[in-house]
Amino acid sequence: NDANFDVPTHPDEYDWSAHYPSHFPGSKAEQPKEGTVTASGGPPEVRFVDVGCGFGGLLVKLAPLYPDTLMLGMELRDKVSEYVKERVLALRRENPGQYDNISCLRTNAQKYLVHHFRKGQLTKLFFLFPDPHFKASTHRRRIISTAQLADYAYLLAPGGMLYTITDVPELGAWMREKTDAHPLFERLSDKELESDPAACLLASATEEGQKVARNSGQTWRSIYRRLPAPEG
Ligand code: SAM
Repeated sequence: NDANFDVPTHPDEYDWSAHYPSHFPGSKAEQPKEGTVTASGGPPEVRFVDVGCGFGGLLVKLAPLYPDTLMLGMELRDKVSEYVKERVLALRRENPGQYDNISCLRTNAQKYLVHHFRKGQLTKLFFLFPDPHFKASTHRRRIISTAQLADYAYLLAPGGMLYTITDVPELGAWMREKTDAHPLFERLSDKELESDPAACLLASATEEGQKVARNSGQTWRSIYRRLPAPEG
């Protein structure tokens, strides 16, 4: 039930300190919610989002690769999001000083992504093995669509990255067709992606990806750069 979600009306209203307490050392003290001052002078902000993060495998792999970057998994299923939160807390306990930069939020990302982040705030957006919604009558629920891409372009900083992968050929073709057609996204070649550690993790980091690999399934990956808005 969406009514249970804690949805801010504006991104500035959301308090991230509970998700990343060690990055907001002042939050429980006298001057709350100031947060750690970043190079830009503001509080730290989420930069990477894994949409439909499932059991959180990607976040766990990315956390040590980008230790200073705050990352969030958004997950619709209550129990699954609770599992990810517990998993992150256990990792923090077992590895002091690590995994402080990842967290999970239970929400409907399709509806509420734009409530949580500002224009140009994000630098990476991940869509790993999204639900296929096979029937034509449910295509509007697909997480990559022309309408949703407008939101993703809005939230991503120019130069930011959008990652997709699936084991469903029809969905792979759909995600590529829709995103190729969008004027603000440019697809990158495998050669251009060789030096991107996140791109290399797509097929193997998550629980769904590992299941596909165990069954020797094929995957379709399409990765895009958010272009600067055209002049004028
Ligand atoms: N990305 C994970 C992986 O690769 O293991 C999970 C893949 S699973 C097939 C798709 C996930 O997306 C499910 O956990 C589902 O609950 C979640 N999901 C579907 N629609 C969503 C939405 N609108 N907002 C957030 N999560 C959603």
